[in-house]
Amino acid sequence: MERIYLDHGATTPPHAEVVEAMLPYYRQYFGNPSSVHSFGREARRALDESREKTALALGAAPEEIIFTSGGTEANNLAIQGVIESLSHKGSHMITSAVEHHAVLDTMNKMSQKGCSLTVLPVDRCGMVDPHELKKAIRDDSVLVSIMTANNEIGTIQPVMELAAICREKGVLFHTDAVQAIGNIPLNLKEVPIDFLSLSAHKLYGPKGIGALFIRKGTKLGKLMFGGGQERKLRPGTENLPAIVGLAKAIEMATADIPGKSKAVAALRDRMIEKLLEKIDAIQLNGHPEHRLPGNVNISVKFVEGESLLLDLDLKGVAASSGSACTSGSLEASHVLMACGMDQQTAHGSLRLTLGHGNTAEEVDYTVATLKDSVERLRGMSSLYRDYRRQVEKKRNIGEEKTCTTKK
Ligand SMILES: *Cc1c(COP(=O)(O)O)cnc(C)c1O
Repeated sequence: MERIYLDHGATTPPHAEVVEAMLPYYRQYFGNPSSVHSFGREARRALDESREKTALALGAAPEEIIFTSGGTEANNLAIQGVIESLSHKGSHMITSAVEHHAVLDTMNKMSQKGCSLTVLPVDRCGMVDPHELKKAIRDDSVLVSIMTANNEIGTIQPVMELAAICREKGVLFHTDAVQAIGNIPLNLKEVPIDFLSLSAHKLYGPKGIGALFIRKGTKLGKLMFGGGQERKLRPGTENLPAIVGLAKAIEMATADIPGKSKAVAALRDRMIEKLLEKIDAIQLNGHPEHRLPGNVNISVKFVEGESLLLDLDLKGVAASSGSACTSGSLEASHVLMACGMDQQTAHGSLRLTLGHGNTAEEVDYTVATLKDSVERLRGMSSLYRDYRRQVEKKRNIGEEKTCTTKK
């Protein structure tokens, strides 16, 4: 049986061209970029070229790119680095309630160490209100960190507006753009972002490599000590094969974003439409319009998301409940809870994230499979039987909350 991969929010399959580009750097070009001999110089050349390619894809300058071990490290470096470099100015940080744990947990750790933290709420669709940000900024604010697009519900934040507010108020702005790069166009020449995190394995590149963009002239403390690599901000011998892979992947990912996104968004909309049509008592989570092209996140009432996940897996469909990092634990998703969802509905949620390799047939098969699973699982639910009985009596029990937002 051909399996269907619908978990691109967790990781993406590396492009064949990316793997091909990496291989020579495991074989003949194994030199250390810091060595002065010819082996080292070959490696240094590849490192420089990769930095140039990565910068070009973002509208940045090469010296503004620091390679890290991934999105998590980039987020840590930005947040902890600013707290250190701006300790004379203050220690107030602002973030949103729907951030990835790599931001939220780092911010929480900083606040345990004495920093103050404001966590902005979001609306039902997971959107941050720019006015709330404006109100939250204080004289001692040093950093605002708000993601470009959410990994669970796909909501795209008004980053242009948020970044402009921070620039105007003289506060540094960091964005976790791990889910956004390659999915939505973003040019750092046009948006006043000071720090941006990205990760290769979310854009059809290798795992364990990412980058932090640091706008020219911005000072940053460091997490690690021991060498001069990456402007001393990320010491240690560079993971050159992975860096070459990242550069190839981001070059490919940022070419013709509108065209590629349109194709994936069409599959997404097909899936959403069919799910809402064929399965009763379900809702779409996240924003109806401002959402990642590949993201489908639904809550299925009267079923456990985990049960659906296992059922789908048995039938060859790989999806995720909540986010990959929280599934397996019994805690409801902090993102869904921040959108005002109750625990029970949150537990019935499922994330299906589409990518470039998916087809309309796969979408249709998945919807049909999901419909069967839901019916089977609901067949065992007395709550669902009660609900149907009441619906049939045309009595209106608890309104179905769908996502509506101003603007
Ligand atoms: C995956 C992800 C990360 C973590 O990136 P890694 O490279 O896996 O460390 C951070 N933020 C978001 C939004 C993500 O989706």
